[in-house]
Amino acid sequence: MNIGFIGLGIMGRPMALNLLKGGHRVRVWARRPESMQPLLDAGAGAASGPADVALAADLVISMVADAPDVEQVWLAAGGVASAGKTGLVGIDMSTIRPAAARDIARRLQAAGVDFLDAPVSGGEVGAIAGTLSIMVGGGSDAFATAAPAFACMGKNIVHVGDSGAGQVAKAANQIVTGAGVLTVAEALNFAAKSGVDPAKVREALLGGFAYSKILENHGQRMLERNFKPGFKSWMHQKDMNIVMQSAHELGLCLPVAAATTQMFNAMVGSGLGEEDSIAILKLLERLSSAASE
Ligand code: NAP
Repeated sequence: MNIGFIGLGIMGRPMALNLLKGGHRVRVWARRPESMQPLLDAGAGAASGPADVALAADLVISMVADAPDVEQVWLAAGGVASAGKTGLVGIDMSTIRPAAARDIARRLQAAGVDFLDAPVSGGEVGAIAGTLSIMVGGGSDAFATAAPAFACMGKNIVHVGDSGAGQVAKAANQIVTGAGVLTVAEALNFAAKSGVDPAKVREALLGGFAYSKILENHGQRMLERNFKPGFKSWMHQKDMNIVMQSAHELGLCLPVAAATTQMFNAMVGSGLGEEDSIAILKLLERLSSAASE
């Protein structure tokens, strides 16, 4: 398949590489040319902008940051829609508000683009291994067209429902993972402040009901104090804000998500935004230490 790919950051770069490895012809664009180089070295073609990405493509995928970025690459002047390729299937795999995904899909439909929201879970590790969980919202025909591309990037691929449903699933995922990172950090900090080796505590917990992938993977990185992103804290703050905005719109009570959101707000406010979300451990440590005068 001819695939265009926009946004070559921590996630987009390995995802595009896996499409190439899967035998697809891939043309890429990123706003910083140096981000494109690893893909060009691996055999991808270079496009001069989002509209150019669309010209030779059957399928265009974006992996950027937030809703304004998705709007920019798809709908702004020079965006994918301006190429005027009716019949194109478009997929955004960034994490954005469900309502924004529905609105973008509606506006792209008017431009002849059949659009799917397909956010992912599994992190950089899953993006590199091609084992992401992919949560898809949109029409069945577009999903069928996109299926071979999804198979190169993910293992657990679920067509959740109509437009926006993939983003609802991802927001639910972020409630679980946000609270999960916070509770694992809280447990390890509790062990350390109690004078017990947190590595031993993690080891003990891994065999019981407290087991989780987050305790296993993120817990290990917390012990190593490896705060290199991964998943930047400001991105997790963005995702918790998506959850809380949706809760506000629907009049929902989400007490755990609300408390988690406050912690991510504090992370960004205290200068930890560019570090991995596991740096929430550092915030807890600061809150648990005697203040120095
Ligand atoms: P990242 O490393 O910051 O990459 C995002 C890329 O998008 C950057 O290369 C950025 O370009 C580009 N971009 C952003 N806005 C753009 C715009 N308006 N026009 C053109 N390019 C734009 O972030 P990431 O970790 O790959 O995350 C990407 C998306 O996946 C986010 O929505 C995130 O929430 C989601 N996600 C991330 C993870 C994870 O573990 N990292 C897991 C699941 C989902 P520059 O380099 O020029 O800034």
